Amino acid sequence: MLRSFIPVEPDSHFSIQNLPYGAYRSESGDIHLCSAIGDHIIDLFVLDEEGFFDGPNLRDQFAFQDSTLNFFLSLGKPAWTEARQRLQLLLSEDNPELRDDELLREQVFKKRDEAEMMLPVQIGDYTDFYSSENHAQNVGSMFRDPENALKPNWKHLPVGYHGRASSIVVSGTDIHRPKGQVLPNGADNPVFQASERLDFELEMGFITGPGNKLGERISVDEAESHIFGLVLLNDWSARDIQKWEYQPLGPFLAKNWATTISPWIVSLEALEPFRTPAPEQSPKPLEYLSQLNPTTFDIQLEAYIQSSKMEHPFKISETNYKDLYWTISQQLAHHTVNGCNVQPGDLYGSGTISGKEEDSYGSLLELAWNGTKPIELPSGEKRTFLEDGDKISLTGFAQGDGYRVGFGEVKGRILPAV
Ligand code: CA
Repeated sequence: MLRSFIPVEPDSHFSIQNLPYGAYRSESGDIHLCSAIGDHIIDLFVLDEEGFFDGPNLRDQFAFQDSTLNFFLSLGKPAWTEARQRLQLLLSEDNPELRDDELLREQVFKKRDEAEMMLPVQIGDYTDFYSSENHAQNVGSMFRDPENALKPNWKHLPVGYHGRASSIVVSGTDIHRPKGQVLPNGADNPVFQASERLDFELEMGFITGPGNKLGERISVDEAESHIFGLVLLNDWSARDIQKWEYQPLGPFLAKNWATTISPWIVSLEALEPFRTPAPEQSPKPLEYLSQLNPTTFDIQLEAYIQSSKMEHPFKISETNYKDLYWTISQQLAHHTVNGCNVQPGDLYGSGTISGKEEDSYGSLLELAWNGTKPIELPSGEKRTFLEDGDKISLTGFAQGDGYRVGFGEVKGRILPAV
């Protein structure tokens, strides 16, 4: 097994097999791109300046001198592979280049828990899919009819909507409870008030690489060469605002006020050992969505809540990414089949990821079943939806043999409405 001269605990998310990408505020105040290993972040700006990325795809590209990853993402898979291989070599236990250069090590390695992380990409566009069958089934049962929970289109195309990119924030950002129009039960007219049904959604998202020109499409077979990696995503939702506004065009102000992503993007290459067959699809999708052997990734996911009265986070859900019905290749092929162009750094949410069991649901809406089954917290408090002061943290990792490839966490705290 590949090992680094930097110590990494077996349960650390940041093994030498991972090497995710992020951005942090350096001591000079400038934002530098970085990776992570063990308890440290790795300053990629410094390594780039020192000329370590000298292979054919990265030489003279200054790929890690920007404050976001967009340019690096636009270079495509050969450059991504080259950067990953170079980093793994530089960090491996028997390579002296960095290991034995104390001065350089001081410039390159910083304490991860002291770093102020930033959004790693400038996100031009954000789309949110709805690809978990269990979630769609639960929501459809709650609001329509268990017998016809899935709409007729659901198994023929990856349902999605265009979200809002400007309000995507990095993990750790506090979130104010939104106000909006709500129709009280039994009322004829709406009122303007702070949302009383605030929720989280446990999701993952993929970040795109080179992309396509307007009018062209990305085929399902080439889709993964345009997908750089995955992030954890919390799609904060105001269910009472959503209920009043969503017909006939779908979610709007219930969703566009905040979306939080993890500071780390884990590359598909790091997730390769965890590839696993995707769920069987019936009926067979149309030709442009057909894959010979559709695959996905085995990523364990957990959601935690911590009220202001609690000392520790409390686990409220445990699920897995691999159960999603539609694959990321199918999502991207569908998104571009009409000629819609995608760009480097765009974000594509999976939709809420819910498992079959009651403790594997990815939202409070489902966990407390539309307010009818309150969750009991260790503090004695009960929750149907989020209260002011509540913190939600989502985490996820793939388990290897003696190592992990993880995403760290995506967390956020609810502040009172303003
Ligand atoms: Ca969502």
